[in-house]
Amino acid sequence: MNNIGVRDGKAVTDVDVVVIGAGQAGLSSAYHLRRAGLEPGRDFVVLDNSPHPGARGSSGGPP
Ligand SMILES: Cc1cc2nc3c(=O)[nH]c(=O)nc-3n(C[C@H](O)[C@H](O)[C@H](O)COP(=O)(O)OP(=O)(O)OC[C@H]3O[C@@H](n4cnc5c(N)ncnc54)[C@H](O)[C@@H]3O)c2cc1C
Repeated sequence: MNNIGVRDGKAVTDVDVVVIGAGQAGLSSAYHLRRAGLEPGRDFVVLDNSPHPGARGSSGGPP
């Protein structure tokens, strides 16, 4: 897999879980993955094609 993020200045290229979208569903998934013991950036990443997380949940409107 190509570079899917940056952690501590190093490219992240290998994770177990990739969450697509940082809306309510994606952020909730990340929360539960973290609670299950997975480390963000090492075990999973959340990717979004918009510059801000939250999507419609933060703006009330379309992303
Ligand atoms: C006007 C309005 C008012 C609302 N009011 C309420 C309310 O009062 N209470 C309530 O509970 N709900 C409300 N909702 C509904 C709530 O906003 C949505 O149900 C919720 O945001 C859906 O979350 P989601 O994560 O499924 O999708 P989204 O919030 O749409 O998140 C999806 C994310 O995925 C990203 N994405 C999409 N495609 C790609 C891709 N190909 N690659 C990478 N990233 C991608 C987007 O950028 C976005 O960040 C409202 C919705 C609207 C439109």
